[in-house]
Amino acid sequence: MNFRFILILCLVFSFLLFNGCTTPQFRENKTNKLTIVTTIFPLYEFSREIGQDKVNVILLIPPGLEPHTFEPKPSDIKTISNSDLFVYVGEGMEPWAHDLFEGINPNNSTLFKASNYAKLIHNQNKGEEQEDEKHNEYEEQKEEIEEYHHPEEYDPHIWLDFSNDVRIVQELTKIINEIDQNNSQYYLTNAENYIKLLEDLDKNYFNELSNCNHKEFISGGHNAFGYLANRYDLNSIAISGLSPNSEPTPQKMKTIIELTKAKGIQYIYFEELLNSSIATTIAQETGTQTLKLNPAGNLSKKEFDDKITFIDIMKANLESLKIGLECN
Ligand SMILES: [Zn+2]
Repeated sequence: MNFRFILILCLVFSFLLFNGCTTPQFRENKTNKLTIVTTIFPLYEFSREIGQDKVNVILLIPPGLEPHTFEPKPSDIKTISNSDLFVYVGEGMEPWAHDLFEGINPNNSTLFKASNYAKLIHNQNKGEEQEDEKHNEYEEQKEEIEEYHHPEEYDPHIWLDFSNDVRIVQELTKIINEIDQNNSQYYLTNAENYIKLLEDLDKNYFNELSNCNHKEFISGGHNAFGYLANRYDLNSIAISGLSPNSEPTPQKMKTIIELTKAKGIQYIYFEELLNSSIATTIAQETGTQTLKLNPAGNLSKKEFDDKITFIDIMKANLESLKIGLECN
């Protein structure tokens, strides 16, 4: 048994233990507010915007932590079990949530899996990730890796397509209304207002990225922007795959450096929560500059304290893309 399997067993046990002590629909709630627990930051913002004063929203993944590397502690499982609603992405974004809940009760009404309401795109790095695993020289480890880290069928970064976000907010509002029918009109009005912001964002991206010198944008981080590229007819190229855990190969570095030069690209993107040294290396090799592009899966501690919103981050990303793609 490997460590991950033992961890899952422990988590399942604690989930059953804590959940056995509470009734999901009628939990004691000192503040008379719904409690919603979310994994990534955009789902936190969506829940908070729908619920506002009537809802207590908890962001499970601490600010500053890269969301792909998060594993819950038993206290996190207790937090989820004591909540009225748990909101997560699914599709490989939180493999631990899949292991923990879906095997136990897939129809549990207190779970909201956002990817069920998204238009999914296939994992474009799948072949590449499988190729990497073949080169693993430790055969025993390889079996464990293949068992617990299946190359995912779909890209989990669904929140970087604003049309997905609109559907997620609509469906999330329905679930919240079912749990707390007394405040339905309040939630619906809040959701409509937030959806307007998402639709404006979508319009601005379409308008302002429609006439640019480049379609390619190159990231020294992981491949988080496939949905954004897909929606606005761009081409996202990243040094690592869908999860930022892998080290880039020298071959991949070489290909990206050649592509940057061949396309006359002037800016390389780096990510807030990842080391920017790869982007800096590519920029030095190609005589280009670096710019920030934030996938917003989580915020830095400072951004969280400054109450930066998902909408703010997406506006900043648009400005950054307009510079890098040389838009008119
Ligand atoms: Zn990611």
